[in-house]
Amino acid sequence: MNWDEYAHWGRHIADWGADYHKNLRDRPVRAQTAVGDIAAQLPTAPPEMGEGMDAILADFDAILMPGMTHWQHPRFFAYFPANATPPSMLAEQLVNTVAAQCMLWQTSPAATEVEGVMVNWLRQALGLADVFTGVIQDSASSATLSAVLTMRERATGYTGNRDGLADKGHLRIYCSDQVHSSIDRACWVAGIGQVNLVKIPTRGARFGMDVAALDHAIKNDIAAGHTPAGIIAITGGTGIGASDDLGPVLAVAKSYNLYTHLDAAWAGSAMICPEIHAEFWADVDGFDSIVFNPHKWLGAQFDCSVQFLRDATPQLNTLKIEPEYLKTTGKAVTNYSEWTIPLGRRFRALKIWFLLRSYGLDGLRERIRNHIDWAAELCEAIRLLGGFEIVTEPILSLFSFRCPGDDAMQQHLVDTINDDGRIYLTQGAFQGQKVIRFQVGQFDTTRDDVMIAHAVISEIWEKIQ
Ligand SMILES: *Cc1c(COP(=O)(O)O)cnc(C)c1O
Repeated sequence: MNWDEYAHWGRHIADWGADYHKNLRDRPVRAQTAVGDIAAQLPTAPPEMGEGMDAILADFDAILMPGMTHWQHPRFFAYFPANATPPSMLAEQLVNTVAAQCMLWQTSPAATEVEGVMVNWLRQALGLADVFTGVIQDSASSATLSAVLTMRERATGYTGNRDGLADKGHLRIYCSDQVHSSIDRACWVAGIGQVNLVKIPTRGARFGMDVAALDHAIKNDIAAGHTPAGIIAITGGTGIGASDDLGPVLAVAKSYNLYTHLDAAWAGSAMICPEIHAEFWADVDGFDSIVFNPHKWLGAQFDCSVQFLRDATPQLNTLKIEPEYLKTTGKAVTNYSEWTIPLGRRFRALKIWFLLRSYGLDGLRERIRNHIDWAAELCEAIRLLGGFEIVTEPILSLFSFRCPGDDAMQQHLVDTINDDGRIYLTQGAFQGQKVIRFQVGQFDTTRDDVMIAHAVISEIWEKIQ
């Protein structure tokens, strides 16, 4: 393909994209294809001869599009959102076009320097103290793994990487029983082990860690000869939005000199609203590491996860490696690949720059506040549906409910709703029971889109009884 053809097809795809997004409400939110439908339509062997772009794009439309679930659909209420605002998509197109690999300052100084400035803009936007620096990663899972590795190395006097873990005993990490599975996986792959991830029960209206139980668990572990390494707190857990009471958790961490990481992958975006920050994050500045995903609620196209660090040194001491071929001469510079596990890096800061400049913080705050209001309104409407029960009250824009019947009935309702296609929601678990989750967060959603969910849920419930 020559560059004139590239430009032609690029314009074609831009037009296609605008039509796609303008007409999204007409499509079912979740793909309606059965397992294997898409693969069955593709040749089993690669082509020997090249084809024209028109043929490739025609197949994309005809074969692949029916198998896509529409995350940008305004009635996407499943999981958490993965908002891709148009300005952030345009930034990604530029990034894809220049196609730089930004592992070192010198492999694209603009990428490194914009990243530094964007982390600082977001730090201010989220109301964090100016001691925090940070780095943009692909996912919260990677940021949490970086933090867990840092806990491991710090607790072993930075000898784990060198000597392995054979004689390190049991390194213990503490979190609530409401954390995301990425915390379990980080402990698996960091060599900590699932048995050494201590899950503390939760209590209170926001299901925060029971700090007395936390303190007790740490004391017992020390008495048993184990080595406490860190505490992972959460703001806005995936299941039901569980949020730890940060100050008391930090006080325990401090009394045992433990490294602390806060997972706010979803809820972090809401902290651009000062009143929400005051409610959830009054003590947040005490954390050593904080992760949030601008690719969820804020509107930066996936993938984009920001890890803030109070002091980057422990993480650099854990992850930095500098073979000869990566050395650069000249002035001291920031090489962000030393802060993370992958070496190669995309220019993710550009979409944040485009996003923040296009909407301003005020435009973004308005959306988040609307989502929270509309979730509360829908929650009240569902409470009034005969026999329905609100299991967990809204935490930000997430609540959970049950219809009458057992767990199988909950799943049946979820599946039937998603087969219908007008809205999309997913199940979760709470206190040993299946619940139906509902979150509001898609960027283009309107109050009408949210309230349609009430009509769809009650209509489908009538039908399946
Ligand atoms: C989404 C989410 C994660 C995982 O985020 P990835 O970026 O997909 O790794 C972790 N924790 C919480 C609370 C989340 O909502």
